Amino acid sequence: MSGFEYASAPESKAIANIASSYGLFINGKFVEPKKGKSFTTINPATEELLSKIAYADKLDIDLAVKSARTAFTKVWSKMPAKERGKYLYRIARIMQERAREFAVVETLDNGKPIRESRDTDIPLAAAHFFYHAGWADKLEYAGVGSKPKPVGVVGQIIPWNFPLLMLAWKIAPALAAGNTVVLKPAETTPLTALLFAQVCQQAGLPDGVVNIVTGDGITGAALVNHPDINKIAFTGSTEVGKAIARSISATKKSATLELGGKAANLVFDDAAIDEAVEGIVNGIFFNQGHVCCAGSRLLLQENIADEVLEKLKKRMSLIRVGDPMDKNTDLGAINSKEQLNRIHEISNTGDTEGANRWSPECKLPSKGFWYPPTIFTGVSQSHRIAREEIFGPVLSVLTFRTPAEGIEKANNTMYGLSAGIWSDKGSKVLWAAKQLKAGVIWSNTFNKFDPASPFGGYKESGWGREGGRHGLAGYLTSDAKAAK
Ligand code: ADP
Repeated sequence: MSGFEYASAPESKAIANIASSYGLFINGKFVEPKKGKSFTTINPATEELLSKIAYADKLDIDLAVKSARTAFTKVWSKMPAKERGKYLYRIARIMQERAREFAVVETLDNGKPIRESRDTDIPLAAAHFFYHAGWADKLEYAGVGSKPKPVGVVGQIIPWNFPLLMLAWKIAPALAAGNTVVLKPAETTPLTALLFAQVCQQAGLPDGVVNIVTGDGITGAALVNHPDINKIAFTGSTEVGKAIARSISATKKSATLELGGKAANLVFDDAAIDEAVEGIVNGIFFNQGHVCCAGSRLLLQENIADEVLEKLKKRMSLIRVGDPMDKNTDLGAINSKEQLNRIHEISNTGDTEGANRWSPECKLPSKGFWYPPTIFTGVSQSHRIAREEIFGPVLSVLTFRTPAEGIEKANNTMYGLSAGIWSDKGSKVLWAAKQLKAGVIWSNTFNKFDPASPFGGYKESGWGREGGRHGLAGYLTSDAKAAK
């Protein structure tokens, strides 16, 4: 493939219109935080400052929860369901209209390739609102009795890997079910949530139905511990998920927790190898591997391992790493310095514990946070890189001899969020899917998402489901007393 280069095809930043500072979105307006504190958000691909963001503390959280409570009791839970649905449709359509703006802001703030924010994050986020708009007046079919009620005021905390998409996963079902929300985006990626706040204004959403509070883990903890929250919906690390579970254990708050993963991607010897290689690449290098359901543990049947690895390395040599705003880029920037350090720290144990590292030759930009696409072979099940979530573009490769051994190795993890199966034989796919302890199982594909499909984990990957009827049910109760 030498001598063939892509010309650069940069997306313009002109549409982004990022303000130099943002307040908190409380009760339908942008307001200054009570203590006037702020933090900054940068572009991880260049380390350039993007904006100054208000930092919410306990007092601000209290105001946001009060505004959500008033909106819940006086407006949103009283509104005919059909009317609620109209707001959701309106939001979905505005998101579509402003899709390019959202994609550019997401890529600038997160570091993910514009191709992915444009083709995956933003369309899927709008799709979540369209899907849940349809549910708003059909809640009696959600499986929680004939007269389901909203749970009340929901505190929602989201991570930085799919900022707008995770917001949509949280806000769309909550609103469709008649709840109001206080949402906290991650500290490194607040911008699309703040743009979404503007969309709520544009859609004429009643004040207080959606409140967006920016800040860090301390802000998140204040939201979790606020006494007037009925439910917490969290996506993030298993460690923080456990802390949240502990802090609400003695309260009446309910929770959905979508946590980490170390998904097995199993390739059987009858698989279509070229397709499997594409699926392996998509499974681990999509979104720089900042994906809780990433196929980060590749399990190859031993008799095809050499062939798959040879093809995989050839394919990895074609991955274009660099400017996320370039439409040809496959692998963008790591979201933050802290995350880059974490990736280095865990990956380096692969070297010290005796696995073999391989990366294609690639020139990384001098500014910003970058990690090359990497695979480790010769990995054993006890290695840290086979057990812990790296959350970066690093793949651990293990082998198995018999299908039963493959399944046993796949299930040998504290996680259970997703898994992939590659085989030409339908009966083997069904057999394997039945044995795998994972919430989402893809067959001959990977990382496919749909608002109608429930998503969630087994074991330490979390509680509850998001998406589909099951996700919606988590925002409803059959007990009218639950929502004050
Ligand atoms: P990651 O490792 O992916 O950064 P975290 O779990 O640390 O994931 O962060 C996910 C989200 O949880 C972010 O919005 C973060 O600010 C928030 N968060 C971090 N610590 C806490 C906490 N103790 N309580 C509530 N939210 C928290």
